[in-house]
Amino acid sequence: MANGAVENKSTAVHKKVDDVKLYINGQFKEAASGRSFENVNPFTNEVINSVAEGDKTEIDEAVSAADKAFKEGPWGSMKLAERMKYIDRIADLIDEEVEEIAVLESLDTGLPIKQTRKMTARAAENFRFYSRMVQTKLHGEAYQVDDEFINYTVYKPLGVVGLITPWNAPFMLETWKVAPALATGNTVVLKPAELSPLTANKLAEIIDKAELPEGVFNVVHGFGETAGASLVAHPDVKAISFTGETVTGSTIIKNAADTLKKTSMELGGKSPLIVFEDADLDRALDAAVWGIFSFNGERCTANSRLLLHKNVKDEFVEKLKKRVENIKIGDPMDTSTQLGPLIEKNHFEKVKKYIDIAREEGCEVVQGTVPEEMKAGNFVPPTLLLNATNEMTVSQEEIFGPVMAVIEFETEEEAVAMANDVKYGLAGYVWTNDIKRGHRVAQAVDAGMLWVNSQNVRDLRIPFGGMKDSGIGREGGHFAIFEFYTEPKVIHVAISDHHIPQFGK
Ligand code: NAD
Repeated sequence: MANGAVENKSTAVHKKVDDVKLYINGQFKEAASGRSFENVNPFTNEVINSVAEGDKTEIDEAVSAADKAFKEGPWGSMKLAERMKYIDRIADLIDEEVEEIAVLESLDTGLPIKQTRKMTARAAENFRFYSRMVQTKLHGEAYQVDDEFINYTVYKPLGVVGLITPWNAPFMLETWKVAPALATGNTVVLKPAELSPLTANKLAEIIDKAELPEGVFNVVHGFGETAGASLVAHPDVKAISFTGETVTGSTIIKNAADTLKKTSMELGGKSPLIVFEDADLDRALDAAVWGIFSFNGERCTANSRLLLHKNVKDEFVEKLKKRVENIKIGDPMDTSTQLGPLIEKNHFEKVKKYIDIAREEGCEVVQGTVPEEMKAGNFVPPTLLLNATNEMTVSQEEIFGPVMAVIEFETEEEAVAMANDVKYGLAGYVWTNDIKRGHRVAQAVDAGMLWVNSQNVRDLRIPFGGMKDSGIGREGGHFAIFEFYTEPKVIHVAISDHHIPQFGK
């Protein structure tokens, strides 16, 4: 189905789907151990299917296939235009299957279908963008040294790269890594999150249909401590691009050190949205609601801390309460649903526990209502933690659900200090009509990405990523292709018979 269909009413239903296999060297296969794990629908908590559980054996097999495809197969030596035809074909095939992919994503994650459709369309754009980017921008530089040398750089793919991804926006985040990795000429082993395997499997089917040479792209499903850790430890894997929790990122960096791997880390966040008294309050309200409640609040760049100037706090909070009451909680397959169930029972319990902690810490908790007929799912209603202070646990730790701490401030200095007084530094949002203040505060907040008078609008060219405990390195635009998925090599060419020192003289 083409993108134009994104607003149509969904007819999708909750159902069982085919079991998921591993995709290694161009073949769909079971794990050698015969083991599999169950995949559960967060809306019903019923099993959707079973998933082949790969571990070290399959990681070794996939890495060996990817290594061979890089060194001996056609991928490494393929003409650029030919390689990009494959990349463009993947984008076209995603577009043809937007609806099916979005339905699988909603089934697997509980994300509302209207949002997964948009994310899926963006996933196709990830491939198109990197196809264009590599064709037009991936080139080296030349450095003339007097009349003696020309030194020039070329950017070479790394070889086999390992991609490890989370469950919160799986297809979008997987393609965000797979597209630049393949476009720059690497071969890939993807280890998707165990809680959301369906669309990674769909990507394998699409890549299989696009007839990429065998071994270029591989998917090994399985758990982090086994499959993920084996990928990180494998000596033939040149780099690991990881998105997930900060604590996992730290473990991966430690484990990757043994084989001196390059790593890219996109980690957690606790991003502030700061509303000054001169802001356009209605637009700020729209942005605050979108930024915390879209993707069920399971979003790394969520504005989970709302910092309100004391002169606008009461008015803003009153409007916020009304918005929260009216958010439509429901079946992820229903196009009118705005908030779906959280990914799994454990995460649901964790988020609820944070709400209990907020009460204990003295917050007033205001929530929407989960309809009675939705009780089988992992629903946490949209939640405001009023009268929060920045020191509270719920203001410091990433909750990763539809829960926003609302904190009052008096001065700009205080707002900036609070914005920065967390261990994370992924994103930030500043709302003010004072242009000087907008720039000043945006520059003062320690975060990788700041938006002034806007919600989180993505531009694929910008450096995406965080500082502090939110990550190391950046993805997006030329940062992905120059700084991560390729390595510069310099070639020094003498253009004259320059002086060569005579050893010993
Ligand atoms: P997670 O860290 O639990 O898991 C992420 C992936 O790592 C999974 O595939 C998992 O199997 C794997 N893994 C776990 N332990 C491993 C190990 N020892 N070695 C190798 N791999 C291992 O994260 P999650 O719960 O799936 O995702 C939610 C987190 O992701 C949140 O913290 C969120 O903020 C973060 N996130 C960050 C960004 C960003 O761009 N900064 C984007 C999306 C999500």
